[in-house]
Amino acid sequence: MKVPLQDLKAGYQSVRSEILQSVTEVMDSQQYILGPKVAELEATVASYCGVGHGIGVSSGTDALLLALMALDVGHGDEVITTPFTFFATAGSIVRVGANPVFVDINPDTFNLNAGKIEAAISPKTKAIMPVHLYGQIAEMERIMNIAHRHKLHVIEDAAQAIGARRNGNPAGSFGHAACFSFYPTKNLGGAGDGGMVVTNDQALAERLKQLRNHGEESRYQHRTVGMNGRMDGIQAAVLLAKFKHLDDWNSRRIENAHYYTPRLKNIAGVVPPSELPNSTHIYHQYVIRCRQRDRLRQFLTDRGIGSGIYYPLPLHLQACFANLGYHAGDFPAAETATQEVLALPIYPELTREQQDMVIDAITDFHRTESKISPNCSHCNPRGSGA
Ligand SMILES: *Cc1c(COP(=O)(O)O)cnc(C)c1O
Repeated sequence: MKVPLQDLKAGYQSVRSEILQSVTEVMDSQQYILGPKVAELEATVASYCGVGHGIGVSSGTDALLLALMALDVGHGDEVITTPFTFFATAGSIVRVGANPVFVDINPDTFNLNAGKIEAAISPKTKAIMPVHLYGQIAEMERIMNIAHRHKLHVIEDAAQAIGARRNGNPAGSFGHAACFSFYPTKNLGGAGDGGMVVTNDQALAERLKQLRNHGEESRYQHRTVGMNGRMDGIQAAVLLAKFKHLDDWNSRRIENAHYYTPRLKNIAGVVPPSELPNSTHIYHQYVIRCRQRDRLRQFLTDRGIGSGIYYPLPLHLQACFANLGYHAGDFPAAETATQEVLALPIYPELTREQQDMVIDAITDFHRTESKISPNCSHCNPRGSGA
């Protein structure tokens, strides 16, 4: 691969000694579960998000699960969310016994279409779970307004959006609770699984701390059943060392995006991602649309360029959710997105030369394709007008 989709080794090399030093402190202390490093990471991330509390947990998925449990979302309840996201968003809802109720996305941002939420609210609705997909925050002011009017909880799935802002407010500061993932390929990634719930609600924070530790209130006293959802000290050590570089890495992703976008937008049939005004998109993924997505992807692979499809199947059409009764055609914007999206390399260490190789390859793809069909009908994604 000349231009891989991701390069975790390059990221690691730049902070290797800081990480090893921090991990060594945990090894020397022999405090592997929770402990001072986890507490320090919790305070660091909470303050970064402008909220009072952080609860370090075992993964982003467990963060979602624990947030739902702490807000008493359970059997028979409904949670409104997007069908165009990573599986865990809806998976966590089902795991607590509730039903996901899907609402279509806005085709420009790929995020939940806030204008369609109210029509999906029923007497069983307990919460809304918007996702800040690819690193751009969903329409949170509107979503919080709807939630207040209907007395619903809001859990931000901010797994892809640590450091993103909207109207000056950071991801994680909008909802009653927000969930982050520190999966190794996320913008802030650990050396294994890890996650965090952040909240401004002190009572909710206490409940979350109990639930991640089997619901234990005081030693061996349990009034509710929780789970083992604790964060490891070694993960916190790695994340604390990497956190110091997060803003710099996010800036480099943004600069890379701003190099791609003006160069790709003139290629017919390619629609680069759109950034909303007053929004800092932190480009966890840089995702273009192309009608001939699969052919373009093969073309890039042949040139040694990595790419990814997030996500190829909308959640309402997953076999495990067949009992929910959804059908193809229910959410056209999400379904079209699954056929057109393609993520290009965007990681912080990507060089301009590598980006030029990607841009040249896409330009050449278009040239080759327009020879096959001169009117460019090969590649006519939504919004391009081509
Ligand atoms: C990564 C991710 C998760 C799950 O996080 P894990 O740490 O892998 O459990 C949940 N939602 C979204 C949108 C994600 O991207």
